[in-house]
Amino acid sequence: MSLQLRQLSVRYGRGRNAITAVDHVDIDVPKGTTVGLVGESGCGKSTVARAVIGLVPVAGGQILLDGKDVTSDRARNSNVFRRSVQMVFQDPYSSLNPRMSIGSALKEALAHGRAAEESRRTAAEMIELVGLPQSALKRYPHQLSGGQRQRVAIARALAVGPDVIVLDEVTSALDVSVQGSVLNLLRTLQRDLGLTYLFISHDLSTVRYMSDVVAVMYLGRIVETTPTLELFAAPQHPYTVGLIESVPRLNHPRVRAPLVGDLPDPRNPPPGCRLSPRCPVGPIHRPDRKICTTEDPQAITELTVHRTACHFAARTAQPSVPV
Ligand code: ADP
Repeated sequence: MSLQLRQLSVRYGRGRNAITAVDHVDIDVPKGTTVGLVGESGCGKSTVARAVIGLVPVAGGQILLDGKDVTSDRARNSNVFRRSVQMVFQDPYSSLNPRMSIGSALKEALAHGRAAEESRRTAAEMIELVGLPQSALKRYPHQLSGGQRQRVAIARALAVGPDVIVLDEVTSALDVSVQGSVLNLLRTLQRDLGLTYLFISHDLSTVRYMSDVVAVMYLGRIVETTPTLELFAAPQHPYTVGLIESVPRLNHPRVRAPLVGDLPDPRNPPPGCRLSPRCPVGPIHRPDRKICTTEDPQAITELTVHRTACHFAARTAQPSVPV
């Protein structure tokens, strides 16, 4: 199944404290592919995930599954939707009941009304699918390592036979040494089962490894969307360039200062381009570029393969170090 977000907006709070955490976001995830959603902490990535699976209400726009509108809370809370779309979170500890064995947790995830024998067989299949021994079924969450727990969380998501999985920072809490094996498992499962992934991470290298297409998010908006290879070979948006340059590389001293300052207060986003107070090619360095503080570049984003919301995208310097 494909997943499409059309002009999706999500708001938190009311009055002066209201924030639009997700602001007119467009993302297309074709069937069987992975779209990576990357950006600094607080930019709205998890809110996108929570909106897709129905944990927060949608303020505007649409969520489409294979072209079918599932935006209403009722649609996203239906059993049909839950069988089609699952989510795996960053911290499997918080999503697994500490008093329930892994086998029971997997059986519980299965649709009600199944015969006990069928549930047992499916749980055994799932645990094998994620590369854990059958003995893990008798264990409790605290008896497993972080990587094993995350495999269980993946098995539980797979138990209902979904087509689309939203993966939110799934390796961020894991030791670097086991991150790769969990990512490889996800890639193998995608290939074997034809899964569609929305892969969310603040970590650019993880996103690069997993994704066919990357969407870069900044302060609630998508600022650049492009096939992964092109994103790293020819990033167009200064925010993307800043993100790429901020990844530490051995033997590559940083040549150009990346982004200055912190993420602005989302309750009061800057006018014009939201990156303008921090942008290395914007008005703080180039006073002639007033347009950045007066006109919203979101409007010039065209629906092409490589989409960029920047008035000076074509003139944005390439990363100063090879990637
Ligand atoms: P990310 O996943 O990129 O770190 P989030 O989606 O968690 O970002 O947060 C986006 C913005 O929404 C942040 O400004 C955050 O403080 C705010 N936010 C997240 N959850 C809530 C909530 N339940 N109530 C109010 N504001 C929230």
